[in-house]
Amino acid sequence: MVIVGAGIIGLAHAFEALSNGLSVTVLDRDRRPVGASVRNFGHCCISAQDGELLALAQRSRPGWLRAAEAAGFWAAEAGTLVVARSATEAAVLDELRAERGGDAVRPYTAEQTAAALGRAEDERDDITAGALLPADLRVNPREAAPALARWVAEHPRGRVLWGTAVTGVESGTVHTTRGAVHGERILVCVGHDVDYLLPDIAEDHGVERCRLSMARVEAPAGFRTDSAVLTATSMLRYDAFTSRPAAARLREEVLGHSAELLEIGANVMFTRLPDGTVLVGDSHHYDATTPPFVDERTYELLLDAVAKVLGVPRLRVLERWQGVYASSPRGPLLVRDLAPGVRAISVTSGIGMTLSFGLAAATFDGTLATTG
Ligand SMILES: Cc1cc2nc3c(=O)[nH]c(=O)nc-3n(C[C@H](O)[C@H](O)[C@H](O)COP(=O)(O)OP(=O)(O)OC[C@H]3O[C@@H](n4cnc5c(N)ncnc54)[C@H](O)[C@@H]3O)c2cc1C
Repeated sequence: MVIVGAGIIGLAHAFEALSNGLSVTVLDRDRRPVGASVRNFGHCCISAQDGELLALAQRSRPGWLRAAEAAGFWAAEAGTLVVARSATEAAVLDELRAERGGDAVRPYTAEQTAAALGRAEDERDDITAGALLPADLRVNPREAAPALARWVAEHPRGRVLWGTAVTGVESGTVHTTRGAVHGERILVCVGHDVDYLLPDIAEDHGVERCRLSMARVEAPAGFRTDSAVLTATSMLRYDAFTSRPAAARLREEVLGHSAELLEIGANVMFTRLPDGTVLVGDSHHYDATTPPFVDERTYELLLDAVAKVLGVPRLRVLERWQGVYASSPRGPLLVRDLAPGVRAISVTSGIGMTLSFGLAAATFDGTLATTG
């Protein structure tokens, strides 16, 4: 099998293929993973999905844990802490718990939520309630894909060819800048760059780029949880929350006090890395081609919002970067058969970490349906 793209989608498929006894060649134009898969929060955000995506995300979980054990990277069954800072935010969490049950959505008191955030005891008044979503996983995005790529390269039936750009695919053959590579089955997993390689397919699915502003900050003293932390703006972006009756009220409420955050498409969330520093973000800007310029106001808004949740006046930024993922108004997944034995798979909804191993499992048991 030949897999184009050493991001998490290509590598999860390579892991499953090797686990199923196949031989695999992974091709990537770069020298190591530097795409969306290393730029994100390392959050396998299972519980916040709904419907078919929830089922696929739940399938992803055991795959992540098996891969982490095999390739030796950190994967924490740390869940997600959702912080509620108003009665409406708490109502959305209550409604989710009513549907999913108390094991999947564990209610937290204001005190428990504030304590989990490491908030000082006299700085907790703004917290109303919270919930722990225990099914979610955490990985270090800077470690997971590179470790998996190493594992594939060191496997007796695996190889990874870096610095090899793919220029075309047809049944049995992948054309690259270093000559042809052959395989009975070919998977094209090039993320948002699907429009460079397969412009007609990308156009037909309405693929565009979503650009996100991210930063790594020093953790305030006391903040030690490995759980991902989501807030009100997160509840406006993930289907598990947006499908609750109180979500419409929540949108009005957030619009009233934080319209600028909605204007930059904010999902105010953060995750702690094993070294103790914290990944914070993010904003969402959509375009076919991404501009290189970032308005500093975007960072001011995000950093200020995260600082408020953590109960500190400001955060010390250690790094900033832009992430890009594939997005489409036509659906969360692009799965197209291009020719016999040749399939393209891009996640077009910003949840590729969450779905990766579920998609790979579905590819190999034949249940992954094409989307056009
Ligand atoms: C800031 C940010 C935050 C995110 N947060 C989350 C989150 O919390 N949870 C979640 O589930 N998801 C999240 N995502 C989304 C997730 O990161 C992506 O959906 C996922 O990483 C996509 O994986 P991929 O393998 O398709 O793409 P990529 O990781 O971009 O990999 C694609 C690979 O293909 C290679 N490639 C492209 N074209 C060619 C070519 N012609 N020839 C050879 N190689 C090629 C590239 O070099 C690259 O290595 C986030 C994304 C970003 C950017």
